Amino acid sequence: PEREIDARRGEEDGNESSLRPQTLDDFTGQKASRENLAIFIAAARQRGDALDHVLLHGPPGLGKTTLAQIVARELGVGFRATSGPVIQRAGDLAAILTNLQPRDVLFIDEIHRLHPAIEEVLYPAMEDFQLDLIIGEGPAARSVRIDLSPFTLVAATTRAGLLATPLRDRFGIPLRLVFYTPEELCQIVTRGARKLEFDLTPEGAEEIARRSRGTPRIAGRLLRRVRDFAAVARAGRGPVDRALADAALSRLEVDSMGLDGMDRRYLRRIAEFHHGGPVGVETLAAALAEARDTLEDVIEPYLIQEGLVLRTSRGRMLGERGWRHLGLQPPARMPG
Ligand code: ADP
Repeated sequence: PEREIDARRGEEDGNESSLRPQTLDDFTGQKASRENLAIFIAAARQRGDALDHVLLHGPPGLGKTTLAQIVARELGVGFRATSGPVIQRAGDLAAILTNLQPRDVLFIDEIHRLHPAIEEVLYPAMEDFQLDLIIGEGPAARSVRIDLSPFTLVAATTRAGLLATPLRDRFGIPLRLVFYTPEELCQIVTRGARKLEFDLTPEGAEEIARRSRGTPRIAGRLLRRVRDFAAVARAGRGPVDRALADAALSRLEVDSMGLDGMDRRYLRRIAEFHHGGPVGVETLAAALAEARDTLEDVIEPYLIQEGLVLRTSRGRMLGERGWRHLGLQPPARMPG
C-alpha cells in the first residue's frame, strides 16, 4: 500500500513471513482466541477428528492468516490457502475440496467476497463433507454427489457482519481478533528486531509499538523502515534508541499515536466541515475520495477503539480525544 500504516497486505509484505510465529505458544496476544483454539485443537487430536470450522474476524493485519497456518501445524495436517475473490467458479472450489486430505485445513481469506452461488456449494461441503455438482446443461443436466474427506475450513473476514447468516452459522468456532496492547506489540517488535539482527533498545521498541495502531503487520513494517533509516543515519554506530525511532517515524509522517496524513484528513474533515458531526460515512468517503469499505475496514476501527471517533446511529462524530489530537478545543457539550 501507499501508506506505511495501511494494515492490508501489500506487495512488499511477501517478506513478512520471516517474522511469522510458528506455534500457538509463540503467538503473542489474542489470549482468549489462543486459549479457545488450544482446547479445541487438543480435543480434535484426541478424537482423531477434523477440527470444527473456524471463523476468524477482525481488522486486517492482526494475525488471521498466521493463526490459520498455526492451526494446521498444531493439528499436524496439510494447509491449503485461497481467498474469496480468487474463487471464480464452483468448479474452482470443487477442485480444491476434492484434493484435500483427511483433516486438512483449508484457509479462505476474505470469505465475505465469495460469490453467493459458490457459497451454496460450500454449505453441504462444510456440513456433510459432500459436494453436489451439476453436470451438463439444460434438460440433460444432472446432479452428482461427491464425498469429500472431512476437513476444517478456517475462514477470515474483516467483519463478521459481512457474512450471510447461514454461512456464519456453519462455523462451530467463531473467534474475534482484537487490537494488540502496546505491551504485546512491544514484545512482537523486540522479537522481530532479534530475528532481523537489529540492535534496538527497549525504549526504541516501545516507540515503534506505540505507533503501530495495535497491528502486528504495521509494527513489522515500521520496524523495517526504522532499520533502513538507522542504517543510513548512523551507519551501524550503536543501538537504535527512542530518539532515532522517533526521527524515522516522524519522517514517515506517522505521528505520536500512529496516525498518518489520511487519518488526520479524516478527523479534520469531521471537525472543520461538519462541526464534529454527526456525518454519514458515505459523505466522508466521497469527500476524502476513499472507498467506503476502506474507511470502515482500515481507517475507522483504530480511531473508534481509541475514542477519536464515535460511531452513532446518525453517523460519525469526533470524540473528545479526536478534538484534542487535532489540537482543537472540543465543543462545550459533547455526547457520550
Ligand atoms: P491478517 O491475515 O489478519 O491480515 P497476518 O496473519 O497476515 O494478518 O499477519 C500479518 C503479519 O503480522 C504476519 O506476517 C506476522 O509477521 C505478524 N503477526 C501477526 N500476528 C502476530 C503475532 N501474534 N505475533 C507476532 N507477529 C504477528
